[in-house]
Amino acid sequence: MSEPNRCPVCNAGFRGAAICTRCGADLERLMRLVVEAWQLRETARRAIAAGDFGRAFELAAKAQEIQSTRAGAALLRLSEWLDPTPPPASQSPAPALPSSSRC
Ligand SMILES: [Zn+2]
Repeated sequence: MSEPNRCPVCNAGFRGAAICTRCGADLERLMRLVVEAWQLRETARRAIAAGDFGRAFELAAKAQEIQSTRAGAALLRLSEWLDPTPPPASQSPAPALPSSSRC
């Protein structure tokens, strides 16, 4: 499965070209990011296969930061669903005990 890459300037589809054939934009940096995101998703898939869902979630989230794809979103949701540990967002601080001041 491959998703078409698009020039961020003119939205022309491209494959393997370092410079956009339509507008001449430099696509090398973009392609490097696409490859990086793809590698992160591949590593996330391997982490899921190995049962390391927390790591898979981190990798998929990083891949989505670099390049948001439907495959990445699916990986993110899958690893989140498989990971039994709750996210650290729900932190409830212990209520402060009132200091007894009696004279
Ligand atoms: Zn272009």
